Amino acid sequence: MKLAAITLLALVCTACASTPQTTATTALMAPPPAPAPIGELVVTVPASAPQASLVFGRAPADSLIVYDGRTFRAAHDGAFVIGIAREQTGLATLQITAPDGRTKAVGIAITPRRFPVERVNGVPEKTVKPPPEIAARIEREQAAVNAVRTRDDDRTDFEQRFIWPVKGRISGVFGSQRVYNGTPGAAHSGVDIAAAKGTPIVAPAGGIVTFANPDLYLTGGTVLIDHGHGVSSNFLHMSRIDVKVGERVEQGQVIGLVGATGRATGPHMHWGMNWFDVRIDPQALLEAEAAK
Ligand SMILES: [Zn+2]
Repeated sequence: MKLAAITLLALVCTACASTPQTTATTALMAPPPAPAPIGELVVTVPASAPQASLVFGRAPADSLIVYDGRTFRAAHDGAFVIGIAREQTGLATLQITAPDGRTKAVGIAITPRRFPVERVNGVPEKTVKPPPEIAARIEREQAAVNAVRTRDDDRTDFEQRFIWPVKGRISGVFGSQRVYNGTPGAAHSGVDIAAAKGTPIVAPAGGIVTFANPDLYLTGGTVLIDHGHGVSSNFLHMSRIDVKVGERVEQGQVIGLVGATGRATGPHMHWGMNWFDVRIDPQALLEAEAAK
């Protein structure tokens, strides 16, 4: 009788002990593992790229990419784009995660470039050293432009082969350190194309107009076009704007006319390009595309 009681107690205790153990095991095992991805992740990028350039790559569609502290996605067709900054050196490292969970890191060697110093005299003094009330306006206008550059649209207009918005002599190159009336300014943020006032400006690739203002203090008539995935173009000093914010434009469509509004010594087309807030050299992009 005593033995039977001990046996029963032992059975109860075994049952008590095993119940939580079974639950814990079940929790650890669920859910069943997904089938292991097969093969190495295929990511295509150039081995090297110059400073201030757009770099085009391919990865599995919709892959998540981390580069330079920014997270973004490859397009639905697998194309992706990054911008190498003017000041960036060494190796650009991208961490790619495919939708199936496979990951891969790839590196792009950044090729250094030399940027010239340009002295620009005869610029209206009020635009070189603006008084405080004007400085506030400039800051407000720059903030509005910066805001539209944070967009990360799904569109893949950036995959088009870009064309010149205006054809003409290059009168100012990207990245040069400009000295206005003897005062050092920021590096030149785009390429200047010599053209007469009133020359039509066309969209270098398709996109959505994200900014259009006829009278910014420094840049005058200003238009921004978003080409998708953070790539955008800006057109400055325009004498006339023919597009509205939110409007879809196609490559080659006239968006306005060349002018000399804002801080400009004479009529010309200033074309800038960005990957988000990273400034890109449009001339280098077109020359690289022409060399393909
Ligand atoms: Zn310019």
